[in-house]
Amino acid sequence: MKRIVVVGGSIAAVTAASWLRVRGFDGTVTLLSAETEAPYTRVPLSKTVLSGLAKDASTALPPLDDSVVLRLGTRAASLDTRARHVILESGEPVPYDGLVIATGGRARRLSPPGMSGERVLRTLADCAALREDLTHARNVLVVGAGLLGMEIASTCRTLGLEVTVIDRDPPLRRVLGPVLAEVITTAAREHGVMLRTAPGGVRLVGSHRPEGVEADGELLTADVIVSAVGDVPAVDWLTGSGLTLDCGVVTDSCGRVADHIVAAGDVAVVRGTRRRPHWTNAVEQARVAAAALLGEEVAGSGFPSYFWTSQFGVDVKIAGEPAGLGEPDLVDVDGGSMLLRWSAGAAATVNHTMPVRKIRQLASAS
Ligand SMILES: Cc1cc2nc3c(=O)[nH]c(=O)nc-3n(C[C@H](O)[C@H](O)[C@H](O)COP(=O)(O)OP(=O)(O)OC[C@H]3O[C@@H](n4cnc5c(N)ncnc54)[C@H](O)[C@@H]3O)c2cc1C
Repeated sequence: MKRIVVVGGSIAAVTAASWLRVRGFDGTVTLLSAETEAPYTRVPLSKTVLSGLAKDASTALPPLDDSVVLRLGTRAASLDTRARHVILESGEPVPYDGLVIATGGRARRLSPPGMSGERVLRTLADCAALREDLTHARNVLVVGAGLLGMEIASTCRTLGLEVTVIDRDPPLRRVLGPVLAEVITTAAREHGVMLRTAPGGVRLVGSHRPEGVEADGELLTADVIVSAVGDVPAVDWLTGSGLTLDCGVVTDSCGRVADHIVAAGDVAVVRGTRRRPHWTNAVEQARVAAAALLGEEVAGSGFPSYFWTSQFGVDVKIAGEPAGLGEPDLVDVDGGSMLLRWSAGAAATVNHTMPVRKIRQLASAS
């Protein structure tokens, strides 16, 4: 194998490219990224970059090895697996012997056809646009009470804005389960956030840009409306490629998709499981997939998935998927901190210092 092409420009792509070198691949590695910015991390966008506390430049990922060819502003438009070409928007074919698919996700949008200007938060550009809107606003309406929506709400409160969050379901329940969700919901209320539930769902209204939200027959308006309603795997360019797409690019447990093709990160879904669009998952999958592309059989960490959130002064670290597991069977509360464990395979800390490895061990020690 002489030429490996990595499609994507963020943590999964960068990790895969670096890991190919770590595993001794000395051929050409070319990274094709649709973004014009050098690879950066999205994690602080909703936490400190949106408020201006951290600068855009602080999100930069460590630079790639000089031997990796980085082509920014280069979007893959399609894939020809027979010819082994990635076809760019310009029509240029980029040949490969091995391919890493790491195109991640894009923000899901709610706006009906003809409406533009819906604010979301996925990229640095989204963050800059939303930050600019917030400087002229007194109040903000966040649609979506998942991890991202609640982090945006928290940051908006630090800016002194009136904040309402609306969702079909109670905040964070679907991702964290009732106990952890309640901890954060209580903190959000104490920080003055108005939380609304609209079981019938919400609809953006406005002639050009969103001017309000209709929820169960009621119209809510705000100076700024931002949608945080999940992400969609970026697989559009793979339509017609023959690869199996089912809520993401379907891989085996080592990230293999087809001959000479692997996938990792938010775009990938391991056969028979759900997609896990979290940072640590992207890093771990990228390492395993890069090794698999070189013909190595490397097992994953073997630990349950891990993710975290930070909002309203509450730092939560989670291993496994507590949602759906009900009440934890171990709760250790010490002042403002908590350690929770579900014997079915999850553990979490709240404002509690514990190495991530230990939290993951605790989750799997059932
Ligand atoms: C605001 C925010 C905060 C977050 N906070 C946390 C957190 O606290 N903890 C946590 O665990 N996770 C968090 N996440 C999730 C985490 O950032 C993602 O899991 C991670 O970014 C996934 O990395 P990825 O490389 O797979 O995909 P992405 O980050 O989506 O990157 C995909 C890259 O591929 C490029 N691309 C897409 N299509 C093409 C194409 N056709 N051609 C070329 N390039 C293409 C994109 O431009 C992008 O550069 C957060 C996400 C966001 C948006």
